[in-house]
Amino acid sequence: MKPNRWDVCVILLVILCAVLFLVGAKQTAEARHVIVSCRSEVVFCLPLDKDGRFPVEDKLTVVIENGEVYVEEAVCPDHLCEKHAPIRQAGRSIVCLPSQIVVSLEGTGQVDAIVQ
Ligand SMILES: [Zn+2]
Repeated sequence: MKPNRWDVCVILLVILCAVLFLVGAKQTAEARHVIVSCRSEVVFCLPLDKDGRFPVEDKLTVVIENGEVYVEEAVCPDHLCEKHAPIRQAGRSIVCLPSQIVVSLEGTGQVDAIVQ
């Protein structure tokens, strides 16, 4: 009788699951918040997992959908912000130069603390 063999397997499995969980948590933690600022002042900060449409000063509408962010209904002359592809990674941003509005994605330091 070798009672430890399955114990070792279970322990290894648990460790593997924990590692996979931490790796997954770190990846999903990449971008957590949508920061919208107008003329260098933060207008609002929203969690990326909260879908919705958020008008910014009658200039454009920020849409959060399935972990992605994009701009709709912009009144600026060039509509470059509308044409920008949806962003989903921390550090990325959509800028509307005529309206001086910046939509950026930021991660949080909290998950890094958990990983440590
Ligand atoms: Zn624009």
